Amino acid sequence: MATEPLGAIARLTQELGKLPGIGPKTAERLTHHLVAAERQEVLALADALKAIKEAIRPCRQCYNLTEGDLCAICRDGRRDPTVICVVEQPRDLAALEKAGTYRGLYHVLGGRLAPLDNIGPEKLTVDGLLRRVKAGGVHEVIMATNPTLEGDGTALYVSNLLAGTGVRVTRLARGLPSGTVLEFANSQMLADALEGRRVF
Ligand SMILES: [Zn+2]
Repeated sequence: MATEPLGAIARLTQELGKLPGIGPKTAERLTHHLVAAERQEVLALADALKAIKEAIRPCRQCYNLTEGDLCAICRDGRRDPTVICVVEQPRDLAALEKAGTYRGLYHVLGGRLAPLDNIGPEKLTVDGLLRRVKAGGVHEVIMATNPTLEGDGTALYVSNLLAGTGVRVTRLARGLPSGTVLEFANSQMLADALEGRRVF
């Protein structure tokens, strides 16, 4: 016997419950909030959800999120193109941007090496980074992966790949407590970590 398709309310509750930090109770509360909300408000939310999947894509150069070909940072002529800061995810880039002191460009790896989860270099944008460095004009690559076992392993892997290209490879200072994920570090900590970066 085929299972009955879920009703609209149960379906929304189920989808909301998949979001991080949203338990079944909250999912239910949000669902009832949306059922009671103005049609316009709910459609605006649906539109915004659709837009992040249809309009957002990775930047051609740095893999940051963008709605165009190049992201706003890569397009900004005031940024220093000789320095590339390598991060795991767009949210790490956002955290560093919030710190407000870094004026170079970025490269978003799209994750970190995790052999146990079968995430090898081919799943990251390592090739793109290598191409950018080999194209010339880059003087420094700052490894800003998270100070976790996998983040450190990724930084080491990438720095080995860059050895021989002549580029200076540095890493964030250990002002960040070990295990602190970049996106949760405060802006001053990140500014200090950038300021105190050292040669890898
Ligand atoms: Zn970009």
